[in-house]
Amino acid sequence: MIHFVGAGPGAPDLITLRGAELLKTADAIVYTGSLVNPALLDFAKKDCEIRNSAKMTLDEVITVLLHVHREGKTAVRLHTGDPSIYGAIREQMDRLEAEDVPYDICPGVSSFCGAAAALKAEYTLPQVSQSVIITRIKGKTPVPEQENIASFAAHGATMVIFLSAGMTEDLQRELLLGGYSKDTPAAIVYKASWPDEKVFRCTVGTLARTSAQSGVSNLALILVGGFLGNDYELSKLYDPTFTTAFRQGEKA
Ligand code: SAH
Repeated sequence: MIHFVGAGPGAPDLITLRGAELLKTADAIVYTGSLVNPALLDFAKKDCEIRNSAKMTLDEVITVLLHVHREGKTAVRLHTGDPSIYGAIREQMDRLEAEDVPYDICPGVSSFCGAAAALKAEYTLPQVSQSVIITRIKGKTPVPEQENIASFAAHGATMVIFLSAGMTEDLQRELLLGGYSKDTPAAIVYKASWPDEKVFRCTVGTLARTSAQSGVSNLALILVGGFLGNDYELSKLYDPTFTTAFRQGEKA
């Protein structure tokens, strides 16, 4: 059996209870060494075989997983954050299916949740934005043309931009082109939940400069939108005059 496990954003105690249990019982762990906090490997049992996938190809990862399975053992494929976001798990799952190898997925806390916690922010503020756009700028990895940053920026919604901290000049240009004003709040969150986490608050107009000054070019998220500002409306959910399935509202 192979378990794909979300490691969480970094802090070892942000993995789920299920994920930690799977790490404790695994005979082999293949972890994404470029992003996963190695402290998580302390959960592994003494004789667990541990491999860093940062130095491996897809074929090599699959070969290890198949080998472990065929010996009647269990392996954990440990991915940073939640495996469904830029985890490249589909190609691994398809290969396992082709070989009739059973697998499952244990979700994790994505770094975009870790970043909101670092910022003490709520992405979905009433009358500011009720949508979160998770995306990346095109770089070496292509992005479908209809998903370019400017087209998403045109919504003025909350944006969480992965894998783009090394391209903030292009990002700033696209965000402005799409319609965000220069003074729209923005932030760079580096290594959310790690001991060396850093938060840089700025605006769309100062994003590239802030990024250059920070020296941060990877393991960071760029967050953009009015949710980082001070204006919003109170929620209906806790409005005393609002009736919900659980509470009768007072007369206004
Ligand atoms: N599956 C992961 C994302 C993997 S892609 C998740 O759910 O978070 C790798 C990118 O995620 C990094 O380049 C960076 O943009 C972001 N990232 C991962 N961990 C991070 C962290 N702790 N703090 C900030 N960004 C992080």
